[in-house]
Amino acid sequence: MFALLSPRWRRVCGLPTLCETCGRMSAQRLCAACLAQHGRLAPGCQRCALPIGSVVPLCGRCLAQRPAFDRTIAALPYAFPWDGVLRRLKFHEGLDLAPSLAERLADAVLDCGGGPVDAVLPVPLAAVRLRQRGFNQAWEIARRVAQRLRLPANESLLLRTRDTAAQAGLDRAARLRNLAAAFELAPDARPLMAGRRLALVDDVMTTGATADAAAAALRAGGAAAVEVWVVARTPAPD
Ligand SMILES: [Zn+2]
Ligand SMILES: [Zn+2]
Repeated sequence: MFALLSPRWRRVCGLPTLCETCGRMSAQRLCAACLAQHGRLAPGCQRCALPIGSVVPLCGRCLAQRPAFDRTIAALPYAFPWDGVLRRLKFHEGLDLAPSLAERLADAVLDCGGGPVDAVLPVPLAAVRLRQRGFNQAWEIARRVAQRLRLPANESLLLRTRDTAAQAGLDRAARLRNLAAAFELAPDARPLMAGRRLALVDDVMTTGATADAAAAALRAGGAAAVEVWVVARTPAPD
């Protein structure tokens, strides 16, 4: 009869749950076997974590133009089965996946000797998007990673003043202009940011343009360094 309970209720009742990807009984929503089989991320660019192998330190794009962040730590490849898991987190309110994903990211940060940082911030959502979705998946990850690493987390220092989710039809230059204007510091953020090392958390990094724009806003506010911590990194575009 217990097998009929949903993963969420199993957790509430303190029962073993079911792995989100293979459906087997597991203490966590992502089981150790699935993580061992699919969890390896190829060595990546030291700045943006794009998988490029370990021969060169930086990818072509970071060499051509240095992003506003100093480095990226990614936990998982954005590929099967994690692409589906992260879509469920975002679009199907699979919020009970957040603790397991945050755990993976915290492990990756510890493995890479991430930080030390002074505070952990999520990539913010625009207010209209936040109202639609009801939660910011980046904050759900960020606050748990911060808790595990015993760091302060703050979701109100960096604001997103423009929803840039629908940028279809714009060329790359227009998309980047749109993004650059999308982030702003909260009115009282500057003194809290000056000279600080910050970690910016997101669920997925695709082109890195969003993280770059958000990091640029933090730098403009006086941040001394910005690391980007993401659950998953997409493979090279081609
Ligand atoms: Zn599994
Ligand atoms: Zn790069």
